[in-house]
Amino acid sequence: MSAPPVRWAFVGASTWASRYLIPAVRAQPDAIGVGAFSSSRERGEEFAASNGLEKAYASLAELLADDAVDAVYISTTNDLHAPQTIAAAAAGKHVLCEKPLALTLADALRMREACEAAGVVFATDHHLRAAPTLVAMRELIAAGEIGELVAGRVFHARLLLEELRTWRLERPEAGGGVVLDITVHDADAVRFLFDDEVAEVTAMSANQGLAGAGIEDSVMGVMRLRGGQLVSFHDAFTVPHAGTGVEVHGSEGSLIGRDLLMPDPVGEVLLRRGDELEEVAIADRRPIYEEVVRRFDAAVRGAGEPLASGADGIASLAVAIAALESSRTGRAVKI
Ligand code: NDP
Repeated sequence: MSAPPVRWAFVGASTWASRYLIPAVRAQPDAIGVGAFSSSRERGEEFAASNGLEKAYASLAELLADDAVDAVYISTTNDLHAPQTIAAAAAGKHVLCEKPLALTLADALRMREACEAAGVVFATDHHLRAAPTLVAMRELIAAGEIGELVAGRVFHARLLLEELRTWRLERPEAGGGVVLDITVHDADAVRFLFDDEVAEVTAMSANQGLAGAGIEDSVMGVMRLRGGQLVSFHDAFTVPHAGTGVEVHGSEGSLIGRDLLMPDPVGEVLLRRGDELEEVAIADRRPIYEEVVRRFDAAVRGAGEPLASGADGIASLAVAIAALESSRTGRAVKI
């Protein structure tokens, strides 16, 4: 007999929910989307209808009181993730929360406590852990193909999509800015690839005129890992033509990933040893967010862990918050 479906509701009438997560839930053989909540009744109804969801809840409380909902995906602005996760946990709903988990570490820790106390699954949508390119890099590193890890570079400097030029650029109180948006992903990708934690961060940020006053739209910095390696990062909303990339350099070779820090399973990985350059075969380019949902649903059923746990979200948020502090103070910040 097959297991009953995991029944999802969507907190936040967001771009990402409609573009990626709702389709990813629909693609599972054993999950269904039940409804959505928006702070605007009109937007919520339009969002539910256009995404094929039966219910548009009038309030978060109404959504959380619905026994027909097992799990929520929270993709509101970043300031709302903490109170909504804590409320969802108290109502016994499993939570897949968007990154950054919160605006402060204290809030992120409270989210984890609430989910632990309620015994619900708490996951962070660090989807890059399912990018087939990054998975291939991690496997090669773990197999010792590039020897001892020496250093890394991450660049995720793009021109922010027109349709995303809202609160990210205008509302610091909602968690706008490139560090909470993108550096948090870099941190998680680095933690995933190096299988290590970040010990210290230094960063310098800039406002290059795309974001409003007081919000950074560009940042460069360095993470020092516990293992001693240095990893540089460059994130921006203002760079049109750089593409994205991740490089991991080892004593026996270098892995060079290009155009891979994306929502879709795109990009390539090269293995370089001296003058020899070889393309790494990427066997399975399955949709990234389908894997996020598949792993989450399995965790809800007690089969394994979500792709990125709440603890991962907290550790990666700590790096982003340290980068913000460093860019404000001009000092390296220990984590
Ligand atoms: P959106 O700007 O699309 O949505 C965020 C919130 O804005 C919604 O919850 C909605 O509030 C409100 N909103 C939406 N449309 C309107 C409108 N027309 N007028 C006024 N308010 C509106 O955000 P994103 O989808 O870009 O991001 C949502 C979350 O997902 C963020 O936390 C972000 O960091 C994360 N994210 C993660 C990605 C990843 O790679 N994992 C990629 C992109 C985003 P309401 O719900 O009340 O209607």
